[in-house]
Amino acid sequence: MATFSFELYPPRDAAADAALERELGPLIAAGPEFVSVTYGANGSSRGVSLDVLRRLLATEVRPMAHLTCVGSSYAEASRLIREFLDAGVTSFLALRGDPPAGVPESEIDLGDLGSAGELVQLIHRVQLEREPYRQHALPGLPGAARLGSGRPVTIAVAAFPNGHPRSRSRAQDLDTLLAKEAAGANLAISQLFFHADDYLGFVADARAAGVTMRILPGLMPVLSRARLDRVLRLCGEALPEGLARELEAAASPEDAARVGIEHATGLARDLLAGGAAGIHLYTFNRSEAPLAVLRGTGLIEPERHDTTRIPA
Ligand code: FAD
Repeated sequence: MATFSFELYPPRDAAADAALERELGPLIAAGPEFVSVTYGANGSSRGVSLDVLRRLLATEVRPMAHLTCVGSSYAEASRLIREFLDAGVTSFLALRGDPPAGVPESEIDLGDLGSAGELVQLIHRVQLEREPYRQHALPGLPGAARLGSGRPVTIAVAAFPNGHPRSRSRAQDLDTLLAKEAAGANLAISQLFFHADDYLGFVADARAAGVTMRILPGLMPVLSRARLDRVLRLCGEALPEGLARELEAAASPEDAARVGIEHATGLARDLLAGGAAGIHLYTFNRSEAPLAVLRGTGLIEPERHDTTRIPA
C-alpha cells in the first residue's frame, strides 16, 4: 500500500502559529505515515521546530525532525541531536544545509560535518550512546524480557532527481545518495520536480547504482504563479512551462488553485502508477490542497474530509 506523509515549516509569528494549529487537525486525521518539520538554516528555527515536533508527539502521528549540520561543530550537532532524542523524536531528515548566501565559502566556518552522510552517522552514534540496549517483551512470559539493540531510528536524507545545484554530474548525485545509505540512512525524500519521468528515471538509475532504501517523491500543489516563482528560486528547478502558462491564464485565485491541485494530482497518479512507494507532500502549512491531492489519487477516502474550502 502506498504511503503518504507531509512536510510542515515552523511558524514565524503568532498568527502563523494559530493558522498551523487549525490546519494540523485535518492533516493528522488523514493518517500520514509521518509529518516532517523543517529546520531553519544555521539553527535559526531550533526552538520553534522543536515546539511543533512536541505538538505532533502529543498526537498519534510520527514526527520527523529535519536537522542541518553546515556551520556546526561535532559537539553542537551532538547536543542538538540529543535534545531532539530527549524530546522523544526518533525520526530525522539529515541534511547538510546551505551556508549563508552571498558570502565566499573561504570566509565561512563550514563546521565539522562536511556532508549529510556524516550527520547520518552522528545521529546513529548519539542514539546508540544514549540508548545502547532496550528490553523486548517475551511473548507468553509475562514480566520476562530480553535485551536487544537500542531503539531503531529512522534517518531520512535528501535526493535530487534533477541534480543538486552544486553537483557536477548525475553520477555525483547517485554516489552522494549511495554514500548516505552506506552511512546508515534508511529513507530518501526527493527535492521538488514537475515531471514524473524526472523522478522515475532517477529512481531507476539509483537502483542500478545500488541504492535500496525507499525514495519518496516530494510534491507540492503550487497554487499561484507567484508561489511557483518563489519555489523555483528556493529549489533551483527549471520552470515547468505548461504549469506556468496555465497558472498565468487562470481567471481567479480559485481557478489557479484548481490548476495547481490538478497538476499535482496528475503527477502523483503517474508516480504511483510508475511504482513510487508513496507521496511526500510539501504542505506550506495548509491542509486543503494536499488533502485534495490525496483524495484525487485515492490515497484517502473522499468522504473523510470537508472539500469545500480551497486556499488562495
Ligand atoms: P549533501 O547530500 O551533503 O550534498 C548535496 C550535494 O552537494 C551533493 O551532490 C554533494 O556532492 C554536493 N556538495 C556538498 N558539499 C560540497 C562542497 N563543499 N563542494 C562541492 N559540492 C558539494 N534545508 C534547510 O536548511 N532546512 C531544511 O529543513 C531543509 N529540508 C529539505 C528537505 C528536502 C526533502 C530537501 C530535498 C532539501 C531540504 N533542504 C533543507 C535543502 C538542503 O539543505 C540543501 O539542498 C543543501 O544544499 C544540500 O543538503 P544535502 O543534505 O542534500 O547535502
